[in-house]
Amino acid sequence: MKKLALMIGAILVITSCATNPLTGRQSLSLVSNAQLFPQAFAQYDQVLGESEVDKTSKDAKMVNEVGQRIKFAAEKFYAQIGQGSSLQGYEWEFSLIKNDALNAWCMPGGKVAFYTGILPVCKNEDGVAVVMGHEVAHALAGHSAEQVSNGMLAQGIMLGGNVAISNEQWKNVFNQLYPVGAQLGMLKYGRSMELDSDEAGLYLMAMAGYNPQEAVAFWERMQNASAGKQSPPEFLSTHPNPGNRIAQIQKIMPKAMEYYNASPYKGK
Ligand SMILES: [Zn+2]
Repeated sequence: MKKLALMIGAILVITSCATNPLTGRQSLSLVSNAQLFPQAFAQYDQVLGESEVDKTSKDAKMVNEVGQRIKFAAEKFYAQIGQGSSLQGYEWEFSLIKNDALNAWCMPGGKVAFYTGILPVCKNEDGVAVVMGHEVAHALAGHSAEQVSNGMLAQGIMLGGNVAISNEQWKNVFNQLYPVGAQLGMLKYGRSMELDSDEAGLYLMAMAGYNPQEAVAFWERMQNASAGKQSPPEFLSTHPNPGNRIAQIQKIMPKAMEYYNASPYKGK
C-alpha cells in the first residue's frame, strides 16, 4: 500500500508540473487556481478590512498605476506566447496600507499589498516597480500553489489523488501558509522561488517601461535599511540576502535591458 502511494505520488509529481514562461523554471502544482483563489480573495478582503487603507493619496495612486502597468505588460506577454488563458480567474488589486512596517506582499490570484513603510526604500516609481514586478511574478508563477503542493505531499494528503483532499485538510494547509492577521503576507517562499520572482519580476518591470537598473539600487537601499538594526525589516525576513540577489540581477540585466529598450512604455 505504501509502495502504491509512493507511485501515485511520483506520477502526480511528473504530471503536475507548471513552467514559468518568463524564466523556464518548473514547479509542482497539485492545486488549481479555482481551488486556491477564493480563499485567498476572502483573506485579502479580511486584511484590508482590518487595516487602514490609503485609497486617495498620490502614493496610493502611483502604487496602483505601477501595478496596472505591470499587470498589463504581463497580460500582453502571456497573450503573445499563446498562454493568455492561464491568467483567467485572476482579480488583480494593488492596495496601499498605512503601516510603518517595511513590507509588501502578494496573495494568490493577484492580490498585492504595499505598506507605506516600504515606500522610502522604493524611493521612486521605478523602485516601486521593482517590488511590484517581484510580487506580481510570485502570483503569476503559482508559487503559492507550489508551496501548498509541497505541504500536501509532506503531510501525505495526496495519497488518493486530487479528489481525496477534504475541505478541512485543504483549509489546514492554506491556513498554515497564510495565518490570518498580523502574520499575513509573511509567507516564506523557498530560495529558488525568490530568485525566480526576481528574474521574472525584472523582465516584467522592463516590459512595462520601468528601468530594471533600479533593482540593484533598490536592494542596496534595502541592505542599508537593515544595517545596524536588531531585527531585519519585515520584507527582509521573507526576502533575505540582498547581496546574493544583486549578483543574480546583474547577471540577467542584459536580457532585462533588451525588454526595456523594446518597451513601448519606456519613458512614459
Ligand atoms: Zn518574494
